[in-house]
Amino acid sequence: MQLNDKIYIAGHRGMVGGAISRRLKTLGYVNLVTRSSAELDLRSQADVNEFFSKEKPDYVFLAAAKVGGIHANNTYRAEFLYDNLMMETNIIHAAWKHGVKKLMFLGSSCIYPKMAPQPLQESSLLTGPLEPTNEPYAIAKIAGIKLCEAYRDQYGCNYISVMPTNLYGIGDNYHPENSHVLPALIRRFHEAKEAKAPSVTVWGSGTPKREFLFADDLAAACVFLMLHYDEKELVNIGTGEDLSIRELAETVKEVVCYEGDIVFDTSKPDGTPRKLMDVSKLHKLGWKHSVELKEGLVQAYADFLHKKHMVAL
Ligand code: GDP
Repeated sequence: MQLNDKIYIAGHRGMVGGAISRRLKTLGYVNLVTRSSAELDLRSQADVNEFFSKEKPDYVFLAAAKVGGIHANNTYRAEFLYDNLMMETNIIHAAWKHGVKKLMFLGSSCIYPKMAPQPLQESSLLTGPLEPTNEPYAIAKIAGIKLCEAYRDQYGCNYISVMPTNLYGIGDNYHPENSHVLPALIRRFHEAKEAKAPSVTVWGSGTPKREFLFADDLAAACVFLMLHYDEKELVNIGTGEDLSIRELAETVKEVVCYEGDIVFDTSKPDGTPRKLMDVSKLHKLGWKHSVELKEGLVQAYADFLHKKHMVAL
């Protein structure tokens, strides 16, 4: 990937696509192509085809997706399946048709079976039933992986798939119900501090364990793999370290400087019990994360405060 190659970042307005764009710019890539969802509806095959035929990108980062936390995944099940299938199918097919040199598809750790051995190895894909709360999203992401593999097998396309763990960072979604746990807790602890509320409610039992990666670290890993990895097998991207939701809540409480109590609402779903990535393959390839959770949380909280100041969330 040369500095003047044309690179399309699908989903550049999202947290991940935004971080990939920043990373590429920092490294000196000058020919980035982007479209907002208002400019290009990625669910429309005709529009995506026309865009690729006009722009003819050399490289594609497929970071566009309909995403959300446990509640959103479980509530908007049809949208999570349909929108994601359409976007990835249209982009992957158009990339092949219009001669893209290399494409990176971004999946998710939820593609692995609910009861797969921990830490989750790349080889666990399709070895058992999925976690029901995010099955539609996972099925769409598995289809994306299989599309990349099939276009490689049949047409020789250099399409690679990476599976990020749970992400957080600059430009996250802080919606109270539809976001992921980390941004949801930043917002809830902050609002409780402002309101001097005696306690903050955290969903579920607090016992599920999750791994969190700062989005700018993910972006660095994506660019690294785009430059150095050309194989069919997926690659996990994570830190290799996890903590319980209770421990996460305590850390957010500390970063936000909230002084009340934490209570757990066990009527809300826990989701999968543990989702820790095996990152030995990534480490062997030569990449390791650099932002630790506490440091990333401080940056994410600053971003939340900045955003709150700029617009009413
Ligand atoms: P998941 O990793 O796909 O399950 O996605 P989430 O980030 O939505 O949830 C992770 C875990 O955090 C689950 O066990 C949730 O029940 C728990 N959790 C606790 N409080 C919240 C919250 O306010 N929002 C979300 N989304 N999850 C929460």
